[in-house]
Amino acid sequence: DDIHQLEQLDKQHFLHPTSSIEQQQTLGPAFIFREGKGIYLSDVKGNVVIDGMSSLWNVNIGHGRLEIGEAAREQMAKLAYSSCFATFSNEPAIRLAAKLAKIAPGQLSAVFYTSGGSEANDTAYKLARHYWSIKGMPEKKKIISRTKSYHGVSVGATSATGLQPFREFSGSLAPDFLHVDQFDTDELRQLIIREGAESIAAFLAEPVQGAGGVHIPPENYFAEVRKICDEFNLLLITDEVITGFGRTGKWFGIEHYGVTPDMMCIAKGITSGYAQLGGVMISKEINETFKQRSGGTFLHGFTYSGHATACAIALKNLEIIEREQLVSNAKVRGDELLAGLKQLKNESEIIENVRALGLMAAIEFKENKTTTPFSPQVVAEAAKRGLICRAVTFNGQDTVVIAPPLIIKKAEVEKVIQILRETINA
Ligand code: PLP
Repeated sequence: DDIHQLEQLDKQHFLHPTSSIEQQQTLGPAFIFREGKGIYLSDVKGNVVIDGMSSLWNVNIGHGRLEIGEAAREQMAKLAYSSCFATFSNEPAIRLAAKLAKIAPGQLSAVFYTSGGSEANDTAYKLARHYWSIKGMPEKKKIISRTKSYHGVSVGATSATGLQPFREFSGSLAPDFLHVDQFDTDELRQLIIREGAESIAAFLAEPVQGAGGVHIPPENYFAEVRKICDEFNLLLITDEVITGFGRTGKWFGIEHYGVTPDMMCIAKGITSGYAQLGGVMISKEINETFKQRSGGTFLHGFTYSGHATACAIALKNLEIIEREQLVSNAKVRGDELLAGLKQLKNESEIIENVRALGLMAAIEFKENKTTTPFSPQVVAEAAKRGLICRAVTFNGQDTVVIAPPLIIKKAEVEKVIQILRETINA
């Protein structure tokens, strides 16, 4: 039948991103999704599941928003795409840039557009080095990031990523990337001194680590990091690809910590996944420095930098986030989610720790001495009960992460907790 054929074609012709070989070649796709509405996804077999990961932490406004389709249709009918190189521009790209400057923290006032988070990261590294080069310090090239970080899969972003399996997959990595342990500012300081600040361009960090297992830094961590960056003349780049656009209960994750980065990578929630878009926001000072450079060309640009339809979709998405007050909803629902998870911890003997900031949450399991880690089993069993969540087993962890769409309602949070309860009991 049709479904069987789709499964066979998938196995033969579709090499999936981040897939296990067993899944890819033997089992085939577990879900072939066909429709989405709100926090729910349904597949070709008629299964309905809660999209507890907002797909890839990105569908912030939920699925099936016709308004977005309307905005895309309108823009495509007018001008789907045109070049933004050099002297060319378009209205949605300009209006979105101005909007981003308004909502971004501190002095971040200009954007360079990409198609996603990996391109945003590679762009940030290049711009940081370019900046120091204009300043007459071309030897400031190294980028320091952290051991459980995830920054994407392009060569640069893989090199910055700390999670070991991603690094090993790609064989050779780019030079001039260094790593420090989680949240250890003494180690950061020592590494800078050891390497020499004159060789280091930037420190790079996710405000809350996502793919690495939802790791929330101690309260004064980023203030200390900012101090170190200022002391040693390093740029601070925050990777807000997941934490941006309301996910943590503020517009941007770094706002929890009262500091401003010099550059900020964005993607995912900027369009809630309705189109491919990302970018790097830069401070006024960096932007002015780029402008001061006499002669030459700013030689960095993607075909789809400033894609008119993607930008029109982003504008509509941000309008919805504001109109429906989804940033504060993420905070309120996130607090409820955390309270529910704490309840589960009290009830269960296998949970070590639970944590959440806004709608980024994690359940860390105790060591399973008898069989395989708990988290993959929990994810498989939760899916059977109608909830998609994700297992994180990198770097010896055994954690399930949850990040539902920001439109989630109180009763739906309760449903998520109830499914998790039944799953863990089972
Ligand atoms: N940075 C962070 C923090 C991410 O979580 C991701 C993706 O999950 C990326 C970068 C890479 O973004 P993309 O997959 O859009 O290239």
